[in-house]
Amino acid sequence: MADGLTTGSLDCLYTGSVWAEGPLWVPSSQTVRWSDIPNNRILEFNPATGATREYAVGVEFTNGRTLDTDGSVVQCSHGRRRVERDRDGTVTGLVDSFQGHRLNSPNDVVIARDTSIWFTDPPYGILPGTKEGHEGEQEYGGCHVFRFEPASGTLTAVVTDLVHPNGLAFSPDESDLYVADTAGPGYGVPLRIATYSVRDGYCGPRTGTLELEDGDAADGLRVDVEGRIWTSAGPSVRIYSPSFQLLGTIAVPETVSNLCFGGPDGQDLYITATTSLYRIRTTTTDAATRVPSV
Ligand code: MG
Repeated sequence: MADGLTTGSLDCLYTGSVWAEGPLWVPSSQTVRWSDIPNNRILEFNPATGATREYAVGVEFTNGRTLDTDGSVVQCSHGRRRVERDRDGTVTGLVDSFQGHRLNSPNDVVIARDTSIWFTDPPYGILPGTKEGHEGEQEYGGCHVFRFEPASGTLTAVVTDLVHPNGLAFSPDESDLYVADTAGPGYGVPLRIATYSVRDGYCGPRTGTLELEDGDAADGLRVDVEGRIWTSAGPSVRIYSPSFQLLGTIAVPETVSNLCFGGPDGQDLYITATTSLYRIRTTTTDAATRVPSV
């Protein structure tokens, strides 16, 4: 297990999703919000009551989400092929095209301290037969990681050498960006997490790569205040040092998609895993946690 990094046991809090992903602790409601993508709905778990409710339905296949500094939630929509903002239930689009071509199906998103929005754009919501969006074409011909400046509307491709970029997170000082690539051997590449140095809003060349065994895909990931990487990896969560030394493993009964830190003190790790939401107590918090300014 994860010696010194977790305490107590893994608890199952909810079962009933088809594919759960995109968890986020929402401070204003003290709840965990996540996507049940094939069921096209967003769920919320309230730890104070132990109850889970449908936050919204018919949501055009949302996936990953993050908290903005104003307390609103920025989320990815496969169905609308865009990144959008949910402010108290009112949803508005932020960005949906690159150089005149529609995005694929934005998957996961983080916000940097300079307020730029960084997101991944693999094709999972537009593939033939998809149950997580609507079939469609890859219009710009790739699957990039993008940086979007809301103030100027500028969209920049910052990582273009991965096949299916998926989860992403910054190191605590935002000098490195970690990006999971879930394409795998079927596309001639290993399942992996790649590291890029970040400067002035751009990524330099890849500086590190963690290769994972087939079946242990890293999808969503987070970084804690000590710089450790907490990543989904098949039916487990693994914790790595910034240089990818394995520090611990949390076994989970189902395939893990994503995770987030939350709870009143930020030390509860919430894990979305196929049909269920799980929680385990940790000794750390997310490096990216910010107190909303309003
Ligand atoms: Mg994902």
